[in-house]
Amino acid sequence: MTMFKGILIEKDEAGYRAGIQEIDEGQLPDGDVTVRVSHSTLNYKDGLAITGRGPVVRRFPMVPGIDLVGTVEASTHPDCRVGDAVLLNGWGVGEVHWGGLAQKARLKGDWLVPLPAQFSPQQAMAIGTAGYTAMLCVLALERHGVTPAHGEILVTGAAGGVGSVATAVLAKLGYTVVAVSGRPEEADYIKRLGVSEVLDRAEFSAPGKPLAKERWAGAVDVVGSHTLANVCASTKYRGVVTACGLAGGMDFPATVAPFILRGVTLAGIDSVMCPRADRLDAWRRLGTDLDMAKLELISHEIALGEAIPTAAKLIDGEIRGRVIVDVNR
Ligand code: NDP
Repeated sequence: MTMFKGILIEKDEAGYRAGIQEIDEGQLPDGDVTVRVSHSTLNYKDGLAITGRGPVVRRFPMVPGIDLVGTVEASTHPDCRVGDAVLLNGWGVGEVHWGGLAQKARLKGDWLVPLPAQFSPQQAMAIGTAGYTAMLCVLALERHGVTPAHGEILVTGAAGGVGSVATAVLAKLGYTVVAVSGRPEEADYIKRLGVSEVLDRAEFSAPGKPLAKERWAGAVDVVGSHTLANVCASTKYRGVVTACGLAGGMDFPATVAPFILRGVTLAGIDSVMCPRADRLDAWRRLGTDLDMAKLELISHEIALGEAIPTAAKLIDGEIRGRVIVDVNR
């Protein structure tokens, strides 16, 4: 019997709980590739899964962790060879299929992408799903024709994972970035990522008018709810708002005014089922358009044993940037 260490989430008569356990390899789910995991991360969704504060986990018991990086240990998939360094984001892993917050994972080879040569395993996880989603937002802005010459780009939740990476990438690409944050104590950190101005979250979180003064050429929103409605209302004629998150709420209490009177585009961003070609493109662009010095500023590493208390802090909005998890420590 081969055992490995991992976080296991259980739900039964005794309640919902997450703990570090020794797990029998025979319990791993079906899949054509077994990966020796080196690092995972904590994303907002992992925080919801571990704390049970959102209905993320749909099968029990569950190993959380929507991201992982590691080495192929066994494979019957034609594109994955033993020893390959691989990366995984999403595909329902950590929700319906055992995920990355453990020393081993068994997965579908079709879900895996090669670890890009530019990144160490730690750097890939410093980016993680949050950073790859930030890049999907930037790619959507570009696809809809937004260039630095069009004007300011607003990034909400700027001190968080998606917001930090989006800010760093946009700044490197030459955009003028304005950040929204509820943490004045992180203003210096956000400015170091390359923003020109930091606005108070409170300016966006209350119900607003259907249309406000036009300011943003584009936006990356991780908050949803009134914030997303107010961002759309203050976006310039033919501007583009990318919506990827719900940190402030799942609702969208808006009117159609920005869309039908100003031609604003609301672009939805999903990282989980995103097609492989788009993933590879996002990771390729992260390799060229994310400043590695800024990635170091954005991220810090913890041991697997610290992941459970850190998950609660993340959902409480107390974590800055990105958290890498060394699953073997
Ligand atoms: P983080 O917790 O790292 O960042 C979220 C940030 O949002 C916080 O740091 C905070 O920023 C801000 N925030 C938190 N609560 C509130 C609130 N009540 N009102 C306004 N702002 C708030 O999470 P991630 O960056 O990992 O994820 C951000 C969002 O994006 C989440 O909702 C997540 O589920 C979603 N997401 C979606 C993906 C997709 O595929 N569509 C993929 C990845 C993430 P500050 O302190 O600066 O205000």
